[in-house]
Amino acid sequence: MHELGITQNVLSIVLKEAAKVGASRITKVSLKVGEWSTVEPDCVQFYFDILARGTIAEDAEVFVERIPVAYTCENCGNEHIPPVSTFACPKCSSPKGKLIAGRELFVDSIEVENANSGASKSNGGE
Ligand SMILES: [Zn+2]
Repeated sequence: MHELGITQNVLSIVLKEAAKVGASRITKVSLKVGEWSTVEPDCVQFYFDILARGTIAEDAEVFVERIPVAYTCENCGNEHIPPVSTFACPKCSSPKGKLIAGRELFVDSIEVENANSGASKSNGGE
């Protein structure tokens, strides 16, 4: 259910970015989603298709790249991917760690078309 709100966010971000470069159409939206994020990529595309109707992002493809979970040990600073059952550091077996990646969702990049010059970036003309 929360994919709806997230997708609304994503859409407003990409529309803003596209406006900045004077894009006439958004063709592709790349998202990065942490492996521990509860977001379902299929849901995001589903909502995106609905929400983007009538905007320049209509028919854009949504690509979702998963980011692996990463932990950093607060004891020795070792970065590791924790096993699901335990967060113990494989190096010093300290249970104290900080999640540094894996729950995020952000817009990585967008591909746009410009009315005048195809897929290039804006030249600032009006
Ligand atoms: Zn450690």
